[in-house]
Amino acid sequence: MATDFDACVIGTGQSGPAVAARLTGQSLKTAIIERKLFGTCVNVGCIPIKTLVASARAAYMGRRAADFGVVIDGAIGIDMKRVKARKDEVVRQ
Ligand SMILES: Cc1cc2nc3c(=O)[nH]c(=O)nc-3n(C[C@H](O)[C@H](O)[C@H](O)COP(=O)(O)OP(=O)(O)OC[C@H]3O[C@@H](n4cnc5c(N)ncnc54)[C@H](O)[C@@H]3O)c2cc1C
Repeated sequence: MATDFDACVIGTGQSGPAVAARLTGQSLKTAIIERKLFGTCVNVGCIPIKTLVASARAAYMGRRAADFGVVIDGAIGIDMKRVKARKDEVVRQ
C-alpha cells in the first residue's frame, strides 16, 4: 500500500469525494480517510429519511383516496418490513 501522498481528504461526506476527484484530476496522489460510513446523507440522513417519508405519504394518500373519488376495497395497511426493505434498497443504490 502506498504511504506517500500529495493530499489527504478526511471524511467522505458531501464534499470529500468531490474534493478527492478534483485532486486526482490534477494528478495529485490523494488519500481518503473515512472512519465509518461513506457520508451521513446517503446512509443515515437525507436519503433513508425521504424514502420513509415517501412510504408514509403513500399510506396517507391511500387513506384519503375516497376524498379524491378513488375506491380502494379493504383497509390500507403498512408493512414495516417492506418499508424498511425499500429504504435499504434505495440506500444500497
Ligand atoms: C436524519 C438526518 C436527515 C437529514 N436530512 C437531510 C435532508 O433531507 N436534506 C439535507 O439537505 N440535509 C439533510 N441532512 C443533513 C445532511 O445529511 C448533512 O448536512 C450532510 O451529510 C453534511 O455533509 P458533510 O459532508 O458536512 O458531513 P457528513 O455527511 O456527516 O460526512 C462527514 C464524514 O466524515 C467522516 N469523519 C468525520 N470525522 C472523521 C475523522 N476524524 N476521521 C475519519 N473520518 C471522519 C464521517 O464518518 C462522515 O462519513 C440530514 C441529516 C440527518 C442526520
